[in-house]
Amino acid sequence: MRVCIALFTIFVAAYCRKVFIGDQVLRIDARSEEQIQLLQELENTEGLELDFWTHPVSTDLPVDIHVPYSSLNAVRTFLQENGILFNVMIEDLQEILNKEQEDLQHKTIKEGDAKSFNYATYHPLDTIYSWMDSMVSAHPDLISKVHIGSSYENRPMYVLKFSTGSNRPAIWIDAGIHSREWISTASAVWMANKLATDFGADPSVTSLLKQMDVYLMTVTNPDGYAYTHTNDRMWRKTRSVNPGSSCRGVDPNRNWDAGFGGPGASKNPCSDSYHGPSAHSAIEVKNIVNLIKTHGKFKAFISIHAYSQLLMYPYGYICTNIPDQAELHSVGQQAVQALSSLYGTSYKIGSICKIIYQASGGSIDWSYNADIKYSFAFELRDTGRYGFLLPANQIIPTATETWLALKYIMEYVRDHPY
Ligand SMILES: [Zn+2]
Repeated sequence: MRVCIALFTIFVAAYCRKVFIGDQVLRIDARSEEQIQLLQELENTEGLELDFWTHPVSTDLPVDIHVPYSSLNAVRTFLQENGILFNVMIEDLQEILNKEQEDLQHKTIKEGDAKSFNYATYHPLDTIYSWMDSMVSAHPDLISKVHIGSSYENRPMYVLKFSTGSNRPAIWIDAGIHSREWISTASAVWMANKLATDFGADPSVTSLLKQMDVYLMTVTNPDGYAYTHTNDRMWRKTRSVNPGSSCRGVDPNRNWDAGFGGPGASKNPCSDSYHGPSAHSAIEVKNIVNLIKTHGKFKAFISIHAYSQLLMYPYGYICTNIPDQAELHSVGQQAVQALSSLYGTSYKIGSICKIIYQASGGSIDWSYNADIKYSFAFELRDTGRYGFLLPANQIIPTATETWLALKYIMEYVRDHPY
């Protein structure tokens, strides 16, 4: 269902925003392999328009399904008839979205008054892009804005580069490759400011930036991000047109040249995990690949997602251990310990394949295979109460705790040159 609101300004612009009235998110703790298989069948059933926020793979992790109002009866009946127990995690998705919108409007007004950037709210793309310019103006000797290319819809793609010298080894951090994971972008924005303000004040951050560059991409999927603000809050993919299909977008984290097209990615352009026609076909992915390859001295590649509270290392496309498994696991454990020390937030650590599911074409598998040893992916808060719709009052706590883990990893990389 879509609600169209006409805004009469100088021009008349019509925004059609998808609404989710009466939609629910159900949480299922599958008890057996048989139940997992039934849920997989459900996931592959066409016509129900189900959006699996987490996928049925093992009995270790819950399966969260966003069920449109029109499919609720069918899904509930299916689960009940098969003896699969479930809880209603979100009673009415639209109610949470309405609350989110109220929060945004309220905070945006307050921010305008204060004339300073509000890190405790979610911002649209143009606000984040102007904030980048203000960061560069405020820290001209430390930060520059690197234009790495354009998105499918021709939006510029920017990276904030933190650097105090030339020809340094570097750390890559990206956020928001899946556009609906707003907490990822919001945390990265906060962390960029933290990195800038701690330089010269925190000896460890200062020594890091005296030895290494940090490339931080806060909005990795700008078309998708803009679309979540204007049209569909639950959009995950890019916005590219898929020839021969009415469905748009490629999952930019199934499009990398690492086990491309294998298990855990879909060949159906309508799927949320559609891998695209070929590896690096998504221009957003290709732009990053070009930068990393041309640069040639990246030592860490860290990708920030949400949700589930996980810290993961390669591989996702196969379940075998990487040669550096022991070291990366130990670094991850220390990082998570630092994160948890602040508010007690608990994280799991492991390889993508073992901790969530086999997923091919992921960015950190590609970076690891490109000889970037310290490749990690975060799944930030929460564990499902709000899922992708984490309230804005959790942005700063989430960013602050995640910063501790990130800082640990960056210091480790600084102290273990290779
Ligand atoms: Zn993601």
